[in-house]
Amino acid sequence: MNVFEEDKKYIAGTYARFPVQIASGKGSLLYDEKGKEYIDMGSGIAVNSFGAADEVWRKAVTDQISKIQHTSNLYYTEPCVKLAKMLCEKTGMKKVFFGNSGAEANECAIKAARKYAAEKHGSDCYTIVTLKNSFHGRTLTTLAATGQEHYHELFTPLTPGFTHVSTNDLDELLDLSSDQKIAAVMIECVQGEGGVNALGKSYVKALRQFTEEKDILLICDEVQTGNGRSGRLYAYMNYDITPDIVSTAKGLGGGLPIGACLLGDKVQNVFSAGDHGSTFGGNPVACAAGCSILERIDETLLSEVREKSAFLFGAFSGAKGVESVSGMGLMIGLKTARPAAEVVKDCMENGVLCLTAKDKVRLLPALNIPMETLKKAAEIILEAAAKAPEAE
Ligand SMILES: *Cc1c(COP(=O)(O)O)cnc(C)c1O
Repeated sequence: MNVFEEDKKYIAGTYARFPVQIASGKGSLLYDEKGKEYIDMGSGIAVNSFGAADEVWRKAVTDQISKIQHTSNLYYTEPCVKLAKMLCEKTGMKKVFFGNSGAEANECAIKAARKYAAEKHGSDCYTIVTLKNSFHGRTLTTLAATGQEHYHELFTPLTPGFTHVSTNDLDELLDLSSDQKIAAVMIECVQGEGGVNALGKSYVKALRQFTEEKDILLICDEVQTGNGRSGRLYAYMNYDITPDIVSTAKGLGGGLPIGACLLGDKVQNVFSAGDHGSTFGGNPVACAAGCSILERIDETLLSEVREKSAFLFGAFSGAKGVESVSGMGLMIGLKTARPAAEVVKDCMENGVLCLTAKDKVRLLPALNIPMETLKKAAEIILEAAAKAPEAE
């Protein structure tokens, strides 16, 4: 079977895939169908937190799948409540709703915010403010939340009630709030798809203070930044703030689909039976996977993430062909002199898989990538970045 041709024939054309077929993997190494080895610097877009076919994760998944694979939410299961308890104990949030993706985690966050605001401040309090350049998902509502016009084109009308303001600029929000009621503000502490840009610390703190004073809910979209990626369990923990709602997904299941919406103090009891739901949400296999991932994101692992981050910042800052380095933890953006796509293509030919975000090369390796493997990947990326544009 020619997978490249048959994929083009049978799969909806929504993806511009790299010309690589992944057949298997082990840790931070992936293999194509011919056996060519790649260092994985993308981990399935920050999903495979402990790399490919990790032993501990595999055991957790196979143990659960041998017992029961799915029950629906009509019955109680242990993995689901165990994961929710761990999430609450590690964050101070009070209750969890499970879905299957980042977009669904955000949909839940938006519904929770809308209901809280409607009950507390009236049915005209529904506006959710998000940031320009943000990314919150592909459903029509999370698309409306996404502050990048080009994603909206030809899919309008989107869900009403979303407004986008500039990043790192509190004044725009202050102006807006004098004109209309605002239910919530939703941010990514590090904008991932928008180009791996961390929000400023004083801005986020001021935003939290303002929203707190006005009883505007603060939602942190931790779909990409969460679960150890930033060098803390959740990226907001780098900012010394407590959000009202946290959404997360990607790395939580270590490679199985799961999304979670964490509800803080104010909104913990906002939902009643029938308000929201998901057939697959809280699936025991996905939750058992999540438990095994979350258990391992301890201080030792997080300090290793921060060390590897410091190594990458050091290796790339000021390097030939690298104009700037951005991000946090193992979520790194490189603005290269050459177009990012060309750097990524060279890396791929030389056995390193990287991603892009806007005009940047984006790196999201597994949290436990061995230091030697990371060094080898950095050398290959540096070499590709340093190549003269004329040499194309
Ligand atoms: C990936 C991502 C989403 C969407 O997640 P899906 O699982 O693709 O629905 C939402 N928000 C952020 C910040 C993301 O990075």
